[in-house]
Amino acid sequence: MTLTVAIVGRPNVGKSTLFNRLVGKRLALVDDTPGVTRDRREGEGRLFDLRFRLFDTAGLEDVQDESLEGRMRRQSELAIEEADLVLLMVDARTGLTSTDEIFADQLRRSERPVVVLANKCEGRAAEAGLLEAYSLGLGDPVAFSAEHGLGLEDLYDHLKTAE
Ligand code: GDP
Ligand code: MG
Repeated sequence: MTLTVAIVGRPNVGKSTLFNRLVGKRLALVDDTPGVTRDRREGEGRLFDLRFRLFDTAGLEDVQDESLEGRMRRQSELAIEEADLVLLMVDARTGLTSTDEIFADQLRRSERPVVVLANKCEGRAAEAGLLEAYSLGLGDPVAFSAEHGLGLEDLYDHLKTAE
């Protein structure tokens, strides 16, 4: 069976940058159905010799009928339900926010396997944020850079273990 992986996290942390890096042009589906699944993208992810199904969660800005928090919660709930492994991405440059904590709470309750990716770790500006990410209580965060390809070997090890 194919491993299903979801990338969740608040807007602007770098989820789509990672999705694009792993999926490239092999996009299976762009779901623009109005509502919670809007802009949820699915594709075939590839990392070295691994193949997996990858979900990106996004597009929360456009739906007007509910609070941002409610929308994020529901969208990530859907993604978490379907995933064998969840990648919780945080921005190590800005540090943790209360929204990151909401995602972390949700994931702890789901009891799904989670890997915390501390993104934007390519420079010293991310050092404090990386340390902070340990406090999410979801295991050791991976020092990651979706843009520069940092941490891909660690991500590979986690995917391989979950497979
Ligand atoms: P999303 O809203 O979580 O999907 O985030 P995006 O993938 O759209 O990225 C948000 C912003 O963060 C963009 O300007 C990206 O170029 C930037 N970004 C993504 N990954 C990295 C990274 O590894 N390092 C840095 N410095 N910026 C990044
Ligand atoms: Mg995005």
